Amino acid sequence: ADHDAVEEVRPDTPVKPMTATRVKVNVSIPNAAERAAATGADGVGLLRIEHMILSLGKTPERYIEDNGTEAYIDQIVEGVRTVAEEFYPRPVRARTLDAPTDEFRQLDGGEDEPEEHNPMLGYRGIRRSLDRPEVFKYELEAFRKLYAMGYDNVEIMLPLVNDSEDVLRAKRLMEEVGIDTEKRSWGVMVETPAAALGIEEMAETGIDFASFGTNDLTQYTLAVDRNNENVADRYDAMHPSILELISQTIETCREHDIETSICGQAGSDTEMVRFLVNEGVTSISANIDAVRDVQHEVKRVEQRLLLDSVR
Ligand code: PEP
Ligand code: MG
Repeated sequence: ADHDAVEEVRPDTPVKPMTATRVKVNVSIPNAAERAAATGADGVGLLRIEHMILSLGKTPERYIEDNGTEAYIDQIVEGVRTVAEEFYPRPVRARTLDAPTDEFRQLDGGEDEPEEHNPMLGYRGIRRSLDRPEVFKYELEAFRKLYAMGYDNVEIMLPLVNDSEDVLRAKRLMEEVGIDTEKRSWGVMVETPAAALGIEEMAETGIDFASFGTNDLTQYTLAVDRNNENVADRYDAMHPSILELISQTIETCREHDIETSICGQAGSDTEMVRFLVNEGVTSISANIDAVRDVQHEVKRVEQRLLLDSVR
């Protein structure tokens, strides 16, 4: 890869991880990149693209209509570049657009968005992207540009996929814009029971990683709206059925040499961290404020596992 365009590779970057299980950090807005990198995290487990778009105050379609495709692509390039630069060469997992229509409806252009009774079950994530491939391809074009600039630490993550058909359709679009899917690291979020139960088939698509989006996986497995306070006491990412889905997925991924990680809120919870390290997850991504505690917990569990193995 051509590294020349990378402005600066910080010599003080702690490239050597503290633990066998990588501990990464979630980043929602590029402004938080410096603070996130200062945690000493082994990379970014989730960079949410939609905040870069939502902050423009317009739906992607309206922004493109008003400002043109190049401007749209540049917004994404700049947002991701800020984080990729800050973390280089540590990996930065950028997720393609995932906002529900009720959020888009509040923006300029929102009047053109579908009105949905259940936005969380609706037109969001990879569903929207595959239904509007021309817009999705501008996003992918931004990633292609970042690779051409030398940011080979950028990884592409696909939200809300249900099966290998979703994955293969997205993969074809990546290839159409000129992203080498053999060379680049890309993967999926596991956020529906369908994705967890279908991981065996998805493992054949060429993905490099699967990341548990436990915010959605909890909501869809338990049928508990993550934003509904009436059932908030039933919202439990540690429910045995969710742990079973996670456990099976990790095992299948291990057999296929696919990395596993978590990027949902539960990755910041020490109880979930203990469970995941015991299951052999590859990495855990936590909120900025939780990284330190997660690092310590991972270290503690790994040391205990090591002791148990020599006893
Ligand atoms: C998740 O579902 O766990 C996740 C990380 O994605 P989001 O919270 O953006 O839906
Ligand atoms: Mg999600």
